[in-house]
Formats: sequence, C-alpha cells, structure tokens
Amino acid sequence: MPEIKKTKKAEKKVVSVSPIPGVEKAKKTYNVLRGMHDILPREEKYWKQLYHAAENLSEYFQFSRIETPLLEEVNLFVRSVGKGTDIVDKEMYIFEDKDGARVALRPEATASVARAYIGNGMWNMSQPVKLWYWGPMFRHDRPQAGRYREFFQVGYETLGVKDPATDVELILIAFNFYKELGLPVEIHINSIGTPAERERYINELVSYYRSKRSYLCEDCRNRISKNPLRLLDCKVEGCQPVKEGAPQIVDWLDEESKNYFMKVLEYLDELAIPYVLTPTLVRGLDYYTHTVFEIYPTFGEPGSQSALGGGGRYDLLVEELGGKPAPAAGVALGIERTVHAMKQYAEENKIPAPEVKYDIFFAQLGDEAKRRALHIINDLRGTGIKIAFNFFKNSLKNQLEAANNLRVSYVIILGQKEVQDKSVIIRDMESGVQEIVDQKKLESILKKKLNRI
Ligand code: AMP
Repeated sequence: MPEIKKTKKAEKKVVSVSPIPGVEKAKKTYNVLRGMHDILPREEKYWKQLYHAAENLSEYFQFSRIETPLLEEVNLFVRSVGKGTDIVDKEMYIFEDKDGARVALRPEATASVARAYIGNGMWNMSQPVKLWYWGPMFRHDRPQAGRYREFFQVGYETLGVKDPATDVELILIAFNFYKELGLPVEIHINSIGTPAERERYINELVSYYRSKRSYLCEDCRNRISKNPLRLLDCKVEGCQPVKEGAPQIVDWLDEESKNYFMKVLEYLDELAIPYVLTPTLVRGLDYYTHTVFEIYPTFGEPGSQSALGGGGRYDLLVEELGGKPAPAAGVALGIERTVHAMKQYAEENKIPAPEVKYDIFFAQLGDEAKRRALHIINDLRGTGIKIAFNFFKNSLKNQLEAANNLRVSYVIILGQKEVQDKSVIIRDMESGVQEIVDQKKLESILKKKLNRI
C-alpha cells in the first residue's frame, strides 16, 4: 500500500464528525423553498378540525376516499386544464424523471380523479361514482398572502351523472363544511354553458373588447387574443367600466342550458344557501361546462377576500381523457386559506382558538414513580380518557402549574410512597380535595368522575 504523505495543510484541516457516515458535517442551514411552508404543531388544531369536518361530510354524503399520485404525466394536465391557462402555461412543476418521462407535480386533482375513474373501469360501477380526496397540490405561482407553491385541497367529485341535484349536493357540502367551522360564506355562481355556446359568446366578447382596446390595461390587451374569458377576471381599476358593459354569457346559453342553470338556482333557494349570480365568474380552466361556482367569506373588508374554494361541472373531461363519455362535477376547497379565514374570523369576533382538551394530568415524583406512571398511562390507553403528562418536569409545583394551564379537572399524583402502596392520589383541581385510591380501581373511579360510564 503506498504511503500517504500528509501535507501541513491537510494536518491542520479540522474535519468535524457527522452522524451520517461519509458525510462531512455541514455548516449550512437550509430554508424552506420559496412559496412552500411547514405546517407546525400550533396549526394542528385547525387542520384536525378541517379534516374532521371534511371526513364527516364525506361519510354523510357517501363519498369514498381516493388517493392519486402526486406525480402524473404532464399531458394529463395540458389536455384537461388546457393551454392558455396560468396553471398550464406558467405554474406547473415539470421535470424529466430518470426514465426520461415528462412528469408534473399535480397542480390540482380533478384531472387525476378523472384519469383514475377511466383507468380503473369505474364507469362499470353503479353511477354516480362519488369520490373525495385530501392532499397537497403544487403551483409555481408568485408567492403572496394566501398563495403558496404547495398547498392542500380537499375535494369532492361526482362522476357519471348530469343532474342539477349533483351540482347542488357539491355546493351544499362546501357550504356545510364552512358552516361546521363556523365561517359565514356565500356562493358566487354562474353558468358557462356548453363549448359551442361559449365559443359564440367568446366571439362576441372579443369583438366588444376589441372596440374598447384603447381603454384596457396591457394584460387585457394580450388576453383578447390569448385567453379572452380571463378578461372577466381583471381587477385593474381602469378596466372595470369596460368589464361592466361586457356581454354576459348567460345571454348566450340555449334553452336547455338555461333551464339546467335555473334548476340549480331553484335548489339553492330551496336550501336557503346564500348565492350571488356572478356573470363574470368563468373559472378559467378548459374543462368546465355549465355550472361554475366559488365560495367566498362574507366577513373582512368587502371585496378584499380571495375565494376559499371553487368548482363546477366538467361534462366532457372524462371523454377528452379517452374514457367513455361521463358527465361529472366537483368542488375543491383550499385548506390554508380556510385556516387563515378561521383565524381572521376568530380575531374579528374575539373567538378563542380551538384547544386540545385533556381530562387529567398525570404527575409523577421520582424515578420509580416515572416508571410506574408510564405503565399506568399505557394501561389507560383505549379508555377514552385523555391524559396529559410531562416526564421532564420533576417538581410537583411545576407539574401542577402545567395541569392548571391545561385546565384539567383532575391531577393524578404518583410519588415514592404511592408506588410502594400501589395507590395514587387524585386531586380535584377545582376544590383542591385529594383522595388516595387503589391503582387497580383508578380506571373505574376516573370514568365515574368524568361521567364516562
Ligand atoms: P382553484 O381550483 O384554483 O380555484 O383552487 C381552489 C381553491 O384552492 C382556491 O379557492 C384556494 O382556496 C386554493 N388555492 C388555489 N391556489 C392556491 C395557492 N397557490 N395557494 C393556496 N391556496 C390555493
């Protein structure tokens, strides 16, 4: 073996030891990517609440859970969401995988659900097929308040039927979701008819906007030829008078489409769901037909809020993606935006944040007690009693303080003596009264005290 000559420089070099073999300990720290965010423990109470509401609604309205991969073929989204949309033109995370396949991180899940419906032969099942999902979406958008590059959506999709009741069921789910969270919302709704009706309308819209070209912002001038429906999304002040005078799509719908839309509105009236007819709402994506809607909070500065969710009917998407024709409709609700709205609403209305509620606090004193306490806590698992504890606080004073902060009704105290006697002390936090009970009887006594029997 050749002798390795050490240079002076090499001898001086300090190599710090990394716990990962072969990796030099790094000095650099890493930040989360721009537009991405960690969902921290302090957010959990909100996320749990949202997930419960979403899951309960899925059970009640009989939607089955579907999980689709985060990665899909790029063309799935190009074909469904469509060229000329911001999502496809600007916002998709696209890369080549190791096999050279062009893949995209999903920017939304409707296209994936439609692909899964076709690929798994779900058209053979009894229709409609009702599916729900919860998961992250990715859009390389310009980060700003309420706009992330990775964000979560919960969504409900009904495939295989076309009936106004379906559209309304989805709106009702969204409405109930916010009701359960205590957020007042309203639905903005429109119909964009069939592609043929839309084409006739777009011709009219384009000739109207061409005649007003000199009054328009730069973006709108480009939209005239690139994506005319998005002219209706423009928020620039100078364009508003032009927008107000623009032709409205409902005037270009034929009888059948109009009747369909009227039925949807009648159902909403019947259910007393607050809605606003919004002729400028077009939702931008290629796959939508007929009913389109968005959900807006009705608090905060008027007009300052962005949509919490949105959806609509997509009768041609399944066929467009190579499946047997299957009309469908869906709704997607943004989780981060909903959490943000909940915090904002709570602040405006002085509503305390949701808390995890514990029944008891288990305090231990000394090594022996710690060991025994862990045992008892483990034995009480499955009883439904929620126990808080902190094995790294050793003084009784500190543990009682922690119990007080959690506002538990009872504290169990286990010291050296109680370990010997196979007993525990139960302290009533309101009265301060303490009683000694046999460890074997602890479960039944606690259940009685907490009215769990
Ligand atoms: P969309 O289908 O684009 O209307 O999205 C439905 C909902 O998802 C929106 O109303 C938002 O609540 C949420 N959402 C969409 N894009 C983002 C984003 N970039 N960051 C956070 N939430 C988003």
